[in-house]
Amino acid sequence: LGKFKERLSRTREKLKEGLSEVFVIERNVDEAFFEELEEALITADINIDTIKRLLTPLRMRVSQGELLKTSEFKEALKAEMLKILSLEPPPFPPEARPAAVFVVGVNGVGKTTSIAKLGYRLKNSGFSVLFVAADTFRAAAIEQLENWGNRLEIPVIKQKLGADPASVVFEGLKAAKSRNIDVALIDTAGRLHTKYNLMEELKKMARVAGKAIEEAPHQNILVIDATTGQNAVSQVKWFKEALPIHTLIVTKMDGTAKGGIVLTLAHLFKIPISFIGLGEKLEDLEPFDPEAFVNAIIP
Ligand code: GDP
Repeated sequence: LGKFKERLSRTREKLKEGLSEVFVIERNVDEAFFEELEEALITADINIDTIKRLLTPLRMRVSQGELLKTSEFKEALKAEMLKILSLEPPPFPPEARPAAVFVVGVNGVGKTTSIAKLGYRLKNSGFSVLFVAADTFRAAAIEQLENWGNRLEIPVIKQKLGADPASVVFEGLKAAKSRNIDVALIDTAGRLHTKYNLMEELKKMARVAGKAIEEAPHQNILVIDATTGQNAVSQVKWFKEALPIHTLIVTKMDGTAKGGIVLTLAHLFKIPISFIGLGEKLEDLEPFDPEAFVNAIIP
C-alpha cells in the first residue's frame, strides 16, 4: 500500500492541491465549497457526467441537513467513488487451458510492456506462458516482445513482418495447445490511423482464435494510458465495437495527475480494471485496489 500511495503521488498531489482548501480546513459545505470541489475534480480528469454522478447524491444529503462538515463530506465522497469502482474484474488468468488472452490498445499505451509484466506475474505464480507477436505491422513490436521473451524465458511465436496477424494467432494458439501452455498472451497491433482496418483485423483474429482453441479468446484486455485523459473514452468506444472488452489495464498511473480517468471509465463503461501500471519495470503492475486508489487520491 505504501508503494502504491507513493506511485500515485502525482495524482494525489494534484488532487490535494485542489482539495487542500476544500478539505484540509474544516468549513461549511456550501455552494462555494461545491464549486471548488468540482474544479478540483475536473483538474484530476474526471469527466463532467461522472462528477455529476458523484456529487448529486451528496448535494441531496447536504440539502437534507447531512454532511455539513467537510470531514463527513469527504468520507461520503470516497464512499460514492468506491461505489463506482466496485466492479469485480474477471479472474486472471482465465480458467481455460490453454487460456487465450488478447491484449489490445492503441500504439504507445504500454501494451507490450504490460504483456511482459503479466507474463512475469504468471510465471512467478507457476503458470507456463507463451507470447504471440500478432502486431506484424511494426518490426519494433515483434523485436520488443522477443526481447521480453528472452529475458523472461517465455517462448514467443512470431512470423515475418507484414504476415497476416490472424495466421500468427492461429499458429500461436496451436503451439500453446501442443506444448501444454497455461496462458497465451497475444500482442496485437494498435495503429490508429487505419482504425477501420484495425478493428476488422481484430475481429478476424478473434474468429480465428476460436478455430484454434474452443471459446478463445477467453479474455480481452484493453490497455489504456492514464495520461491520455479524456481521449481514453473514445478508445474504449472504438475497441468495444470490435471485441467485447472484459477488463482494462490502466498504465502510467505513476506519471500522471490525471488518475481520475479510472473513475470516468468505470462510471461510463462499467468495465472493471484488473491492473494498473505504476512504472516501466516488470514489478510495476499491481492489481487494481479501489480502496487504496480512493485513499491515495483523497488522503
Ligand atoms: P505499446 O506500443 O502499447 O506496446 O507500448 P510499449 O509497451 O512499447 O510502451 C510505451 C512506453 O511506455 C515505453 O517506454 C514503456 O516503458 C512505457 N510504459 C509502459 N507502461 C508504463 C507505466 O505503467 N508507467 C510508466 N511510467 N511507463 C510505462
